[in-house]
Amino acid sequence: MKKNIAIAGAGLVGSLLAIYLLRRGYHVTIFERRPDMRKNQAGAGRSINLALSNRGLHALDEVGLSDDLRAVAIPMHGRMVHDRQGNTNLQPYGKHGQFINSISRSNLNIVLMSKAEAMGAVFHFEQRVTHIDTERSAITTASPENHLATYHFDGIVGADGAYSAVRLDLQLSDRFDFSQRYIEHGYKELHIPAVAGQFALEKNALHIWPRESFMMIALPNPDGSFTGTLFFPFEGKNSFASLTTDAAIRSFLEETFPDVIKLMPEALHDFNHNPTGSLVTTQCYPWVRHTTVLIGDAAHAIVPFYGQGMNAGFEDCSVLNKLLQRHHDHWDAAIQEFQQLRKPDTDAIAQLALDNFIEMRDLVADEKFVLRKKIEARIHELYPDKWIPLYSMVTFHENIRYADALQTGRKQKEIMDDILARPDIATTWPSLNFEQLANRLHRP
Ligand code: FAD
Repeated sequence: MKKNIAIAGAGLVGSLLAIYLLRRGYHVTIFERRPDMRKNQAGAGRSINLALSNRGLHALDEVGLSDDLRAVAIPMHGRMVHDRQGNTNLQPYGKHGQFINSISRSNLNIVLMSKAEAMGAVFHFEQRVTHIDTERSAITTASPENHLATYHFDGIVGADGAYSAVRLDLQLSDRFDFSQRYIEHGYKELHIPAVAGQFALEKNALHIWPRESFMMIALPNPDGSFTGTLFFPFEGKNSFASLTTDAAIRSFLEETFPDVIKLMPEALHDFNHNPTGSLVTTQCYPWVRHTTVLIGDAAHAIVPFYGQGMNAGFEDCSVLNKLLQRHHDHWDAAIQEFQQLRKPDTDAIAQLALDNFIEMRDLVADEKFVLRKKIEARIHELYPDKWIPLYSMVTFHENIRYADALQTGRKQKEIMDDILARPDIATTWPSLNFEQLANRLHRP
């Protein structure tokens, strides 16, 4: 049995995987490029909060952490859509009692790291992985002073994120497929503070300001504030590049988000000073070379529009754990099956995430789309086992694989496009034959 495992990256996925492996009796050493974020929260980085849903919760449940984390998360029951006039409309995410959770990225990471450390993981902070020798199962790291050290392990895991150094080494080997694709939008975080300690917007919702070619979203934080994220083109007529003066930025924000901009006293400052992040999808294969395996964003970075990147990475950990169990901890066999099993699913969620950007920024404000959601909710209510809306399959049904959700979602779209093309559908839909519709989905 392989016992000594190195993990590159103490992010969300690397830290959770460490816990799974420690529970199985492995020795785990983690190399992390950044300083220990428990000592310096400013280094926590990227978006401040994340949507945690059933796939991620299921994995956290398996390692006994879901109750603690649920207690500090804020339930979001639906999308609160804000139009240009400031009118709002709450669209539930699923059935009564189904919700996603807003959780602090840094707190979640800290909980996972602390748990792994308490179970015996050895952390090396400020140690950047620079090279992997997959044949010798060796990992080379550099300190901030550029002192190099090489260590040998029985297995290596690349959990070092979208710009993985471990993956870069695999890319240099023969017959390694790799693609990366940036979308034309970047993102910028804009803060919406609490007002007298209270939430300035509905607390239990994910807020969206869909504006067709771009959008802003906001997720609640426990201190009563919201983290707003503007997804906006880098270039073009309405873009980061076109807003070059304070006056232009201010009037754009005031005209585009009139209801919320008055709650954002620091918007101009945030716009000018917060970094603009880019959004990339990466796909690669194989994920395995000798005893080295990629996991999480290192294997499959996706755009954030389904709120599934971390959830998919947590599901990776759960799947790998089950395979280690099934293969009696034969590392090489488990990681081989892991890549074969997971690749179709992570490709599927990559596609779904891209598709969902159009849904969020454009369609949620469209009457036909809202009607479609209503009809689907009715079919699901009447025939819950036969028709589960795509969003629910992805978000609330961890037992449905992403690849199956994608395929079923395409069939559902065909059926619904057909129904919505009827001229009088807006008034006649309550008398549709819902059973027949549900059965159409299962016709070969
Ligand atoms: P990371 O979180 O990137 O962690 C990688 C770690 O490796 C980091 O600690 C890094 O410092 C370290 N590292 C990097 N290089 C090296 C090296 N050479 N040596 C050593 N260490 C290294 N997902 C959701 O599920 N829900 C959401 O709501 C959501 N919202 C998002 C919003 C935005 C704007 C973005 C950009 C992403 C969002 N995601 C969301 C996706 C989520 O952030 C990622 O999928 C998740 O962070 C992946 O975890 P990871 O551990 O694989 O990678």
